[in-house]
Amino acid sequence: MIKENLAAIYARITEAALKAGRMPADITLIAVSKRHPVEMISEAIRAGQQDFGENYLQEAKDKITALGGQARFHFIGSLQSNKAKDAATLCDIIHTVDRLKLARELDKYAKAAGKTLPVLIQVNVGREEQKGGVLPEEAEELLGHMQDFDNLEIRGLMTMPPYRANPEEVRPFFAELRELGEGLQKKGLIATNCPLELSMGMSGDFEVAISEGATMVRVGTAIFGERE
Ligand SMILES: *Cc1c(COP(=O)(O)O)cnc(C)c1O
Repeated sequence: MIKENLAAIYARITEAALKAGRMPADITLIAVSKRHPVEMISEAIRAGQQDFGENYLQEAKDKITALGGQARFHFIGSLQSNKAKDAATLCDIIHTVDRLKLARELDKYAKAAGKTLPVLIQVNVGREEQKGGVLPEEAEELLGHMQDFDNLEIRGLMTMPPYRANPEEVRPFFAELRELGEGLQKKGLIATNCPLELSMGMSGDFEVAISEGATMVRVGTAIFGERE
């Protein structure tokens, strides 16, 4: 079933990309495997899937250890600074940097691990109190302070917009993230030697996100089914 689900999602990504005049290859599907067992990740890997998203560090650690370099792991959950060491050491990219202290810790441990860690800044475009992320108007200041962190590579932005039953209503939030990212990249605060990354769109709204410029979509339920 996972194989068929993946094929269906890739077909929808291709269609949405072409409709928006974009290259399907410019969009990375992140299969969000949180709260699903490692066997399901293995099944997805056998079907050709390479990028996975995890929200909980201990769970990510167990899975990364079990799979030993067979896939790329994106950390997409909220991250406490005291978990920065494991996150920086084990994960391939962190999508949820939203404060200076966390960025500083990630840089420190990336340096200790002898690596450059790609990161995205999480932005709370919906201004929801319960959600992580910097407010749009605070992103520039955070990025300014992060320029000295030699072991972090700031690739772009990520968002978790407010839930709406109609995905079209989420479009303005995706557009806002893209405009913010483009502006920050122009100012040189986001890496300019590679295309701006925009991590946005989930099972219910990834096609809208692609039409607004998403380069990474994070899809869980539509691939692995409901979580417990
Ligand atoms: C769980 C989660 C997803 C995937 O959500 P689905 O609705 O299952 O596709 C995407 N992004 C983040 C940050 C998540 O926590």
